[in-house]
Amino acid sequence: MCGVFGAYSKTDCVAEEVYLGLMALQHRGQESAGVAWIDGCGRVNVAKGMGLVHEALDQDSLSKTNVTSAIGHVRYSTAGGSMIQNAQPICANYAQGPVAIAHNGNLTNLSDLRSSLENKGAIFQSTSDTEAILHLVAHQPDKRPLDALLGALERVRGAFSLVVLLEDGVVAARDPWGFRPLVLGKRDGNYYISSESCAFSLIGATLVRDIEPGEVLLINENGLTSYRLDSKADRGWLCSFEFVYLARPDSVIEGKSVYKARQEMGRKLARDAGGEGCHVKGDSGAADFVAYLPDSGTTAAIGYAEESGIPFAAAVVRNRYVGRTFIQPTQRVRELGVRIKLSPSQDLFAGHRAILVDDSLVRGTTAGLVVSMIRECNAKELHLRISSPPVRYPCYYGIDTPSRGDLAAAKQSLDDIAASIGADSLSYLSKDEMIEAIGLPGDRLCTACFDGCYLDGPAKRMACASCGNS
Ligand code: AMP
Ligand code: SF4
Repeated sequence: MCGVFGAYSKTDCVAEEVYLGLMALQHRGQESAGVAWIDGCGRVNVAKGMGLVHEALDQDSLSKTNVTSAIGHVRYSTAGGSMIQNAQPICANYAQGPVAIAHNGNLTNLSDLRSSLENKGAIFQSTSDTEAILHLVAHQPDKRPLDALLGALERVRGAFSLVVLLEDGVVAARDPWGFRPLVLGKRDGNYYISSESCAFSLIGATLVRDIEPGEVLLINENGLTSYRLDSKADRGWLCSFEFVYLARPDSVIEGKSVYKARQEMGRKLARDAGGEGCHVKGDSGAADFVAYLPDSGTTAAIGYAEESGIPFAAAVVRNRYVGRTFIQPTQRVRELGVRIKLSPSQDLFAGHRAILVDDSLVRGTTAGLVVSMIRECNAKELHLRISSPPVRYPCYYGIDTPSRGDLAAAKQSLDDIAASIGADSLSYLSKDEMIEAIGLPGDRLCTACFDGCYLDGPAKRMACASCGNS
């Protein structure tokens, strides 16, 4: 997962606004950040560094950068390792002029593209798949940059939500399947492109609309010009996990509030959650309170408490100065990270029956450690509730999920997960309940990490757990 942001103005300097937009998208990537612009000599410039936005970039110098269009990126490594060469935007001054690209998503035909480009003499500087798009553009030197970009995007498959900076203007592009969100915002005559609408409020802009799947939108002095990629999609593939965990709750994606979707997931979880295959043993009806794993389980726990009538308690405390545990590179650091980050309140749990809500269970590390810490507080009963379906398959569309062998629900039955975590009961939401809570039709959503139904790619040979297709 990454975050992209772009800004275009006829009159105002926008580099600092891109910096602010990236800060609002920080939850989408904490590994590196970058901002690119075209200088007065027509050459692309980039400032980038490792770490959080305020560590990687110099706000003061960006605020003095006198440019009216710029793009930016926050990175969370999925394809490619954690190194400065993979930080984005990726930039080049090629035969037809300057180009900078910021990408959220993963391409599924990267190895084919890469070998065909290398056979034509391309030398890759990074291991990130975004560079393939840049090479595809540069390998069409007879075309205008925008046409070369359109030609390049026709050849890539998989997930891409892009902001691109050309001399022609700022370009937003979304793959024909619409895996990752991308939205257009406006303030006065200025236009903004962002992975999520939450970034607009910080700069006083309002959400205009989503960039449509397969749309390439050019923003320049002529206003907005929309182009269409040849649609290879017969249905939508918007990532349902954005609503479960990835997006910020104050964002709106394809007209649906992320907050309301999460709250409804919690409400459904409190009703007869899960149905067959999603529920194991144990009655949580007489629980004393509903606790949540901060911050990921908060909104679903609010819905759960509202629906069940059981009081809500902030019984697990989060050290807000420690970052997300999931991005830590090794299992040992990840496990320590959870202990550093989360601490259950002894007073609240001792002798009580509690329900603990989290948004998802991937490896089971977080839940396992928190439940054992709660057990150390002498809780009488602990019922774990997960406001999404069991994650049984990896993601190939831009999320760093582990391989199948490390996914708790791929290798264990739900009874075994409950036992190994130490919960008195465990239930998940079913896929249909999650889709209902999001409020978009099922054939507009990707649910591959839950059901194994992939668009294509290495996993397409695996039989889909729910429909049986391979
Ligand atoms: P795990 O400890 O591996 O079971 O991870 C589950 C926890 O990580 C939950 O609290 C989620 O909120 C969070 N999480 C789930 N998916 C991701 C992801 N792709 N990136 C970062 N954190 C995640
Ligand atoms: Fe999202 Fe899961 Fe599909 Fe990946 S596989 S795009 S995380 S729903």
